[in-house]
Amino acid sequence: MIRKLSPLILPITTFLVAWVLLPRIPLIPPEKQVLLTSAPYLLIAVGMALSFHFRRGRVFMVLTLIAFCYGLCASRLAGLTGPDTPDAWLIFRAITVLLPFNLLLCSLMQEKGVFTKAGKMRLLFFGFQVFALWLSLRNSQQGLWMTLTQKLVDWPFLNQLQVPQEALIMFLVAISIALCRTITRQSPIDGGMFGCTIAAFAFLNWLWVPLMPATLAATAALILVIAVIQDSHNMAFRDDLTKLPSRRALNELLPCLGSTYTIAMVDVDHFKGFNDDYGHDVGDQVLKMIASKMMAISGRGRPFRYGGEEFTIIFPGKGMQDAFPHLEQLRTTIEEYQMYLRDSDRPKDDGRGKSRRANKRPDRFVSVTISIGMAEASPRQSSDEVLKSADVALYKAKNRGRNQICRAN
Ligand code: GH3
Ligand code: MG
Ligand code: MG
Repeated sequence: MIRKLSPLILPITTFLVAWVLLPRIPLIPPEKQVLLTSAPYLLIAVGMALSFHFRRGRVFMVLTLIAFCYGLCASRLAGLTGPDTPDAWLIFRAITVLLPFNLLLCSLMQEKGVFTKAGKMRLLFFGFQVFALWLSLRNSQQGLWMTLTQKLVDWPFLNQLQVPQEALIMFLVAISIALCRTITRQSPIDGGMFGCTIAAFAFLNWLWVPLMPATLAATAALILVIAVIQDSHNMAFRDDLTKLPSRRALNELLPCLGSTYTIAMVDVDHFKGFNDDYGHDVGDQVLKMIASKMMAISGRGRPFRYGGEEFTIIFPGKGMQDAFPHLEQLRTTIEEYQMYLRDSDRPKDDGRGKSRRANKRPDRFVSVTISIGMAEASPRQSSDEVLKSADVALYKAKNRGRNQICRAN
């Protein structure tokens, strides 16, 4: 579970660092405070350029939203200490409705790119809201925003907050959705949406404290910039299906290993037949299950997806003797693991189903085995050659009947 929360580490840390620094901000000399008020625009511009480049439409939309809200507050509410004028009241109320509402939508949305048809429609919808705000400002229509921001319950704790209760509910829903998506999809972008939504809440709640909006808008944008960078790094170095580091990450590590290490090559047994029996989707689930068992391997083994149904595990600082019990434990864990098939996973009454029954496989539970070849560092071999030796040992394990570990000579 803790590993599943790892995409939240950077956004939460960024927010906490900003939070700790907040009391020091009034100590900044006034001439430098001007820089701080420009920081959100700079970070938003960097974030937009990155999200455009990597086609991250949701991030682009949230940054547009922050730019709009921060720009409006900086230009129309500057110098005020509360929503004292009718225009300030209307702008504040409108933003407290529109910001969490759009963040909630962005948390729910699927990724559809930036200037694609769907991306343009989303930006148009946002433009429509800006137009509605402009109209209500022009005609001083307070009524709509008054209705949308009425008090629901009279709790002293909630009364202390600047943010109206409806907005608070939308923020809580948006934060919960971003949290669930981060855990299920392991995506830094969803982690970024989570951190950004918390920063947006703080931005609104402390809107009337000097320099707080600039700091918190900059924090929200920075969280998204970091999320896009982390996401693009993952695209290059992490396998999308299993979430394990990819072969490229392995290639980067191999030359950096010290003088003592063991490399294990792991291959799923008869996986082609398994796919034929149960379908590619169940095959994918099995690969994910194997990857999750590998991530939990003891002995500080580092797993990688080598390609297809082949994996590599590196044990830095360990010889074959030391690495063996951890690999044996992994092999038996996978052999004993019974994966439950839901009805939708089981093959229908077609050729696949018949072949499954012919093989007398259990009806609701499936299991697989793995073969492992291992080789340890040697002064005569480069790490690439050690990996090849592990591969040769793997084929020895296959030839000897599979579901076993073989050592290189
Ligand atoms: P062996 O015991 O000798 O390793 O037999 P095998 O059937 O596992 O080996 P083979 O190399 O013939 O087949 C590998 C299969 O792995 C073929 C391919 O369909 C399947 N495979 C590779 N990558 C994926 C994937 O990402 N998802 C699924 N579901 N199957 C995959
Ligand atoms: Mg294979
Ligand atoms: Mg195989």
